[in-house]
Amino acid sequence: MGYQAVYHTHTHRCKHASGDAPDYARVAAAGGCRVLGISDHTPLPDGRWPGVRMTMDGFPGYLAAIAQARAEQPALTVLAAVECEWVPEFASFYRDELLGRNGLDYLIGAGHYTVIDGVWRGSFEHLVTPAALRTYATMMEEAMVSGLFAFIAHPDLIGCCNEVWTADTAACARDLCAASLATGVPLELNGYGIRKEWIDTPDGRRPQYPWIPFWEIAGAMGVQVVLNSDAHRPEDTLAGYDDLVAIRDRFALVEADLSRLTAQH
Ligand SMILES: [Zn+2]
Ligand SMILES: [Zn+2]
Repeated sequence: MGYQAVYHTHTHRCKHASGDAPDYARVAAAGGCRVLGISDHTPLPDGRWPGVRMTMDGFPGYLAAIAQARAEQPALTVLAAVECEWVPEFASFYRDELLGRNGLDYLIGAGHYTVIDGVWRGSFEHLVTPAALRTYATMMEEAMVSGLFAFIAHPDLIGCCNEVWTADTAACARDLCAASLATGVPLELNGYGIRKEWIDTPDGRRPQYPWIPFWEIAGAMGVQVVLNSDAHRPEDTLAGYDDLVAIRDRFALVEADLSRLTAQH
């Protein structure tokens, strides 16, 4: 048994991944997966953060590649999505252009950037003060409340820049989990962190994420989860399943039912 569905994968267009939608679809179909969501980092209308995403000009080609994957793998349900940053002024773009005019099946919400002291900073490096952690949780709560996102990607990315679990990281985790419960937006157990470089901490060597104490809180609070590879290479399309299942089961986390996302197909 492996993934029956993967909702988080990338393509070469984001400039830090390889392969294209048909390559990921081939691996998913060969591995017995039933649903594959292609969810590259969204283009943004003002061209912001161009180093890690496609341009608006690249978007039609992205959709065409997804359509090609769908045509090549009739037994696989291929969904069209993107991974979005929570930037309030882009909410209408996400809703009207991406979900509306372009008919994407869903959006992923993510907080790779956080506004710290009035400046957008990379979350993977800068969520190291109580205020920054609070801001990150607040921004992700706003993303969930917006109703635009099917789930929140790697909410525990705070494990990238905090070596040890503290009262402040715990408060951040509780705030994120409470928002998930209040809005019904599930949180993602993300396998990409397991494939990235592990970090040495006073508590031992561990992946940057998933960060175990985060999921202990999530389990205790009854948060629903989505298990994803977050593949940035076709060969990783179905990676990490057993590791994520082990965390899911260790804390009795329940997987969210996302079958509504395939309703159009
Ligand atoms: Zn990426
Ligand atoms: Zn991400």
